[in-house]
Amino acid sequence: KLSKRLQMIADRVPKGSRLADIGSDHALLPTYLVQKGIVVYAVAGEVNPGPFEAATRQVLECGLSSKISVRSGNGLAVIEPGEAEVITIAGMGGNLIASILEAGKHKLRGVKHLILQPNVGEDQVRRWLDEHGWFVESEAILEEDGKIYEILTAVPAEGVMAGPFQALYQDRRLHGGKVVDKARLLQMGPYLLEEAPEVWFRKWESELEKLAMIEAQLSRSSAEASKAKAEQIAEEIREIKEVLACLQ
Ligand code: SAM
Repeated sequence: KLSKRLQMIADRVPKGSRLADIGSDHALLPTYLVQKGIVVYAVAGEVNPGPFEAATRQVLECGLSSKISVRSGNGLAVIEPGEAEVITIAGMGGNLIASILEAGKHKLRGVKHLILQPNVGEDQVRRWLDEHGWFVESEAILEEDGKIYEILTAVPAEGVMAGPFQALYQDRRLHGGKVVDKARLLQMGPYLLEEAPEVWFRKWESELEKLAMIEAQLSRSSAEASKAKAEQIAEEIREIKEVLACLQ
């Protein structure tokens, strides 16, 4: 049985596709998807020897070697262009996910869905997608074992109708008149902001606590640069609070 997080990722994989799961660890996701008949073929990529061996063992033990190819390598280097229609990258920082996509962007030809689950730094993933012709089609958020995760699904922007495409990161006026700009939408998620689920509020409450701690630390320093940074963070806290207040 998959964790709730991996199950929600699995639920987003279209039936009948060929998958590449990058940073697959124990290859739990491709194993599940092949066993359920959801994907016809999968590549499990791993850069580290321990997880690579674990994935190899898992696939052998499940008798799935003909359907899951376990490969050792960095990011998208393990696949050929056109080999997979769906790529999942889950359980790492948004910074790393964006750098994997950047380094392997020539491998994305023929890819129809990117399903990405950053543990932190979701804004960096959204920004990379936006700057490289990928349209975020849906966002999900979940809590498991006290941690909150976001799952972003993106499709090539050229197939997307102009309306939704233009609306995604356009300035939004909330009830009460507050305007949310593109930078804030990239940070908080355009769909999540629209739906404002309860878990998302909790995520931002905890982010605000973290920001307040950083601000307090910086404002104790006598260095001018730290004071300026503290003021910048104080402004960000005010902004985020205003957004949340308009949605409650
Ligand atoms: N994707 C699984 C999940 O969501 O449960 C495993 C997540 S695990 C925390 C992250 C995995 O990514 C580790 O096994 C690590 O070795 C792998 N990894 C990190 N950087 C990578 C890279 N550049 N290319 C491939 N795998 C990478």
